[in-house]
Amino acid sequence: MAHRNLAAAVAVAATLAVAATAAPAAGSSPWDHTAAGTVFSPNPVQDLGNESLTDAKDADYAALAAAYHRVTLTHLDGSGTLTGQYVRVKSSTGSAARSVNGAFPAYHRDADQFEQVMGYYWVTTAQEYLQHLGFGGALRPVNQRQIELRVDQYGGDNSFFRDNKANITVGKGGVDDAEDAEVVVHEYGHSVQDGQVPGFGTTLESGAIGEAFGDYLAVVVTSWRAGTPTKTPEACVADWDSVSYTRTVPHCLRRLDGTKTYPADVVGEVHADGEIWSRALWDIRTALGDTKASTLIVEAQFAFAPDTTFRAAALDTVAAAQRLYGSSAATAVTKAFQARGIL
Ligand SMILES: [Zn+2]
Repeated sequence: MAHRNLAAAVAVAATLAVAATAAPAAGSSPWDHTAAGTVFSPNPVQDLGNESLTDAKDADYAALAAAYHRVTLTHLDGSGTLTGQYVRVKSSTGSAARSVNGAFPAYHRDADQFEQVMGYYWVTTAQEYLQHLGFGGALRPVNQRQIELRVDQYGGDNSFFRDNKANITVGKGGVDDAEDAEVVVHEYGHSVQDGQVPGFGTTLESGAIGEAFGDYLAVVVTSWRAGTPTKTPEACVADWDSVSYTRTVPHCLRRLDGTKTYPADVVGEVHADGEIWSRALWDIRTALGDTKASTLIVEAQFAFAPDTTFRAAALDTVAAAQRLYGSSAATAVTKAFQARGIL
């Protein structure tokens, strides 16, 4: 009798366990659909360690074949379009990608739809990274809204979206922007900061912090998903996008590990000056590891004023380190900003 009761209890427990695990996946969220898609991860230069790859006028060619990866797109709405919980993709240069039976065709880079899939996958991956750090769980949510990512001919020069920092526009000059995950995630960095501090980045220094954070997020998200690069420098941003406009190898749009200091190296341009700030973020990550560094860096940003200065933002970042991880972390963060001349 006791044995039979035990068996019954086990059976009931098993039923409950099934119910408990099945419930969230059984349609409680409209965003629980997935589909296969083909992407670069994060880009062919970094993935293949080949610095001699070129745009070749958007052609698909044999040397790129190994850089295409079949992945699972998550948080989709099930409509068969690239519409999901954190991003909806629009294109003004090609028809919309469509999935059939849970799979998008294996678009390659010569198809506009490839960039659409890239944009969807990497914005969603960046949001998943933030959630993996605890944002939206133990920590308050960061940018958990559905943004719009638009693929068009002119990218950031498109005046229509110029004033909307929540959304992203990726252009098609040289290597198409969305063919490099680090460009997509950089742009999402601006959306993240706008989500944390509406209108963030109204001055030179706050604008430089915005560019620096985008570069930092680009590197950490792609390393998290694709693994730390072994054939190219991890600190190099946009190894593939930059082949069209850089002559030196390795090709990098910018780097996180430069030697610029404040105020000696300030030139009054947000991307260039951002390399002062991003090196500090890089040093924090080297000292504390990816998870702690990224968590305190993002958490600190909630306290930034839209027109913050390097100094005020650095003090906010030290305070976040102290609050989350204590004195030794705060000391490491302070040292990183002191090395740049910011504190
Ligand atoms: Zn930017």
